[in-house]
Amino acid sequence: MPMNLTESRRQFLRQAGLGAAAAALAGPAAAATLAQPLSAAMQHDDKKKLGWAIVGLGKFATEQIMPNFKDCQHSKLVALVSGSPDKAKKLAREYGIEEKNLYNYQNFDTIRDNPAVDIVYIILPNALHAEYTVRAAQAGKHVLCEKPMATSEEDCQKMIDASKKAGKKLMIAYRCQYEPFNLNAIERIKKGELGKLKVITADHGRPVKPTEDKADTWRVVKKLAGGGSLMDIGIYSLNATRYLTGEEPVEITAQEHSDKSDPRFKEVEDTIVFTLRFPSGVLATCTSSYSYQEVKRGRAFGDKGWLDLDPLSDYNKHTMKIGTEEGKQEPQLKEGNQFAAEVDHMSECVMQNKTPRTPGEEGQRDVRYIMAIYEAAKKGKAVKV
Ligand code: NAD
Repeated sequence: MPMNLTESRRQFLRQAGLGAAAAALAGPAAAATLAQPLSAAMQHDDKKKLGWAIVGLGKFATEQIMPNFKDCQHSKLVALVSGSPDKAKKLAREYGIEEKNLYNYQNFDTIRDNPAVDIVYIILPNALHAEYTVRAAQAGKHVLCEKPMATSEEDCQKMIDASKKAGKKLMIAYRCQYEPFNLNAIERIKKGELGKLKVITADHGRPVKPTEDKADTWRVVKKLAGGGSLMDIGIYSLNATRYLTGEEPVEITAQEHSDKSDPRFKEVEDTIVFTLRFPSGVLATCTSSYSYQEVKRGRAFGDKGWLDLDPLSDYNKHTMKIGTEEGKQEPQLKEGNQFAAEVDHMSECVMQNKTPRTPGEEGQRDVRYIMAIYEAAKKGKAVKV
């Protein structure tokens, strides 16, 4: 018997190991039964949740990740790593974390002696991801690492190698791939709702403000950020073209413009426009800028319809619009907690010894394409990848 859309989506999520996302789509009542093979008792038993350490207590960690552990079924926050003891102690009190589980960047490696920590989540400036992922793997811990995975393909390889050598899992935090609207869009495209896919467009931008926002200070320093808007937010456009098509690009072109008299763009790029050619013939055109007002959208065009996600990559309030011969519609999907789904997916992969949906290799591919985009912009020529 053919499955209905909800059931097939649930099956897809289960197969992808996305128990929490599947549960979010299915509603709370179904949550206990979807995350096989964990028993219902385990789901509510805090002692059976895997222990997480957060490395880097900056804006994203404190405002988005830490508060959302409350919605996790398989993950609990047990340790913090910070260069600021006062900040760490204050947050530890707030989150009920024992003071003995607080580390700094110097004694971080002693986390190997702490059996309460199963998984380490790296939320540091981009150029530090590789060092801390390797140190965490060498300390015998599984790692979830923020995007972009690293600032060079070689560093990505070191991270993959260190995790393999330690026999530990490595996942990259591509939260959109755990977000219900994006997952639904992937499924609709796969099912052919838009007909034959032709073009993807995606735009990401926001004004970078290093003098006003501490979190932006390192973003304009090349040795910490690795690059500018592309590494930081253009990566959402790039990654979306890959998960929406389910293909890897074969050719890339790009153009960049940065006002070098603007102190923000002395070291990193502002605006970059790039195109990707995929093997099936799908073309993608993406823009990324540190000068736009906030934009985070994507659109897929097929020969039978188009699908809009605007925003595609926000923290909440996603919308989807679809246009076909029959007219326009706005499917009313349930907003999910993408942060909890992502973190729980990693815990489930560790518990069930499965490869994460977004492993190190996924992050490495984006870094490879980012480097090809920079090369194409510099040379003014298409680059084969
Ligand atoms: P942030 O500046 O607020 O946080 C970075 C943290 O690293 C700070 O606590 C800082 O003290 C610490 N740090 C340690 N060593 C440092 C050094 N040498 N220089 C500067 N800071 C140092 O930045 P953020 O916005 O939280 O970004 C952190 C990471 O999270 C980045 O990789 C970024 O791409 C990623 N991020 C992801 C998302 C997402 O939606 N997935 C959103 C925002 C940021």
